[in-house]
Amino acid sequence: MDTLLLSLKDDFDAAVDKAARFIRAGEVVGMPTETVYGLAANALDPDAVKKIFEAKGRPSDNPLIVHVTDESGLFELCRSVPTAALKLAERFWPGPLTIILKKKDAVPSVTSGGLDTVAVRCPSHPGARALIKKSGVPLAAPSANLSGKPSPTTFSRVVEDMDGRVACILDGGDCDVGVESTVVTLASFPPRLLRPGAVTLSELSDVLGEVVLDRAVLNPLEEGAAAASPGMKYRHYSPACRLTVVRGDLGRFAQTVAPVLAEGDGMMLFDGEDPPFPCPVFYLGPENDPAEQGKRLFSVLRELDDAGLSRAFCRAPSEQGFGLAVCNRLYRAAGFEFM
Ligand code: AMP
Ligand code: MG
Repeated sequence: MDTLLLSLKDDFDAAVDKAARFIRAGEVVGMPTETVYGLAANALDPDAVKKIFEAKGRPSDNPLIVHVTDESGLFELCRSVPTAALKLAERFWPGPLTIILKKKDAVPSVTSGGLDTVAVRCPSHPGARALIKKSGVPLAAPSANLSGKPSPTTFSRVVEDMDGRVACILDGGDCDVGVESTVVTLASFPPRLLRPGAVTLSELSDVLGEVVLDRAVLNPLEEGAAAASPGMKYRHYSPACRLTVVRGDLGRFAQTVAPVLAEGDGMMLFDGEDPPFPCPVFYLGPENDPAEQGKRLFSVLRELDDAGLSRAFCRAPSEQGFGLAVCNRLYRAAGFEFM
C-alpha cells in the first residue's frame, strides 16, 4: 500500500482533513500524540480496528486505548461513569492518563481485546485532538511501532516501521513525554495502576485515595498468572540488542561491568558521566531528571540497534515519581536482566 506522508507544520487543516477522510473510510492513520505516536482507526468499526492489529503484528488479545476529545467520550464508551473517573478527567485531561472502565456494547470486542472493559484517553496533542474531532469518531490507537519494538517518539521512526503498512502518517514533530500514558483501572476496587506514565502514582492517589501498584509494573509476570493488563504479558519495547540493567552508582557499574564487557558491547549512562571503559556510549539524560530520561528512552533504545551493538549495560534510573515509568519500560526492554 502507498502511505501518504503529511506534515502538520505546513498546512495543519489540510493535513488533518485528508487524514480524517482516511479514518472515515475505515483506514489506519499514524497519529502524533504527546506520549508516543499512535496508529489510529475508528474504534467503533471492527474491520478498521483489525487493520491496526495487522499493521502492527499485534496479538489480538492485547486491547487498544480509545482516544476521545473530552470526558463526554467516557459516557459514549463506558457503561457507567463513576465520580472518580470524572475527577481524574478534570485533573489530568487532556493529558497522558488512560482510564479503564466497563465498556458499552457499542465498543467492539476487537477493540477491547475480548475484555468487557475499555481503556479511554483524551490526548493533549493538537494534531491528535483535531484528527479525532474531524473524524467524528473515537480513535482506537496503540503505539505506532511494529509489535515488540520500542514505541516511536519521532515521525521518522514511525515511517521506518509503518511505511507501506498504513494509509497515511501525520508528522507532528517529536513527542513531548516520550513514554506511553499512565493506565489506571477503575473497573475494580481499589483502583489499580497497570502501567506507569507521566501522571504519577502519587498524583493519582491525591485524587483517588488508595491506588494499588500492579505487581507486573516492576516484575516479570509469573508463569501461569493472568495479566491485569494483557500488554504486560508480552516482551515489549525491545531492541534487538541485549540489555542489562546495572544497579548502584557509577563506581559499582564500573566494577560490575569490567569482567564481562565484550567486543561489540556498549553502555547507557547518565549525561556528564565519563565512560569507565572505551566503548560506544549512549546518554539517557541527567540522572536526576526522569522526565528527560523518559523523553529520550525509546529513541536511545532504537539507536543501540542502529549502532549494531550486541549488548548494552545500562545505569539504573531512579524508580521514584516519573522514574517508575522509565524503569518499567527499561526493565521490560531488558527482559528483567539485572546485575
Ligand atoms: P499501547 O496501545 O501500545 O499503548 O498499549 C496499551 C496498553 O493498555 C496495553 O498494555 C494494554 O494491555 C492496556 N489496556 C488497554 N485496554 C485495556 C483494558 N481494557 N484492560 C486492561 N488493560 C488494557
Ligand atoms: Mg505499545
